[in-house]
Amino acid sequence: MRGGAGQPPEQCQGRSYADGETFLYRGNPLKLESGDEASGARVRPSGDCLIVSAPPEGRRKTLLWWYTAETEKIARDLIPAWSKKLGVRPRAVEVKYAKTRWGSCSSSGRVFLNSRLAMLPDRVAEYIVVHELCHLKHMNHGPGFWAEVRSALPGCEALRRSLRRHERDAVI
Ligand SMILES: [Zn+2]
Repeated sequence: MRGGAGQPPEQCQGRSYADGETFLYRGNPLKLESGDEASGARVRPSGDCLIVSAPPEGRRKTLLWWYTAETEKIARDLIPAWSKKLGVRPRAVEVKYAKTRWGSCSSSGRVFLNSRLAMLPDRVAEYIVVHELCHLKHMNHGPGFWAEVRSALPGCEALRRSLRRHERDAVI
């Protein structure tokens, strides 16, 4: 990102944030389109477009903010129900941008989810949520952990493959 006051996040390599560029939203590729800056909503999916109402130098920051809010919604939808099903109780859930990791879980019970979760198909995002919650029972990737994930989500192998297919394009 060029110029401007403050410290905007670095521009992501290969991204120009120009009209026509593709951004995934819940697994669907949407084309970035300029919106009317006076219209209120700053980011809005509409058909196969993602309408962004922000000056060019503020687009990435606006998209980051929006994807974080969308991922927080996904977390609010999924975490209470899955915590109950799995019999776990996360101490805190935090959504923030990260370049590589999709999620993590600390031994103190804090779950972190990447803001880019909202770019993935819903079932794949759900797999990541379930994966992290299962770490509250098994703080490793041993057989017990995978048995837990598999019994919660029987199709998890296909979801993992789907994640590998989408993650290269799921960049903000
Ligand atoms: Zn893990």
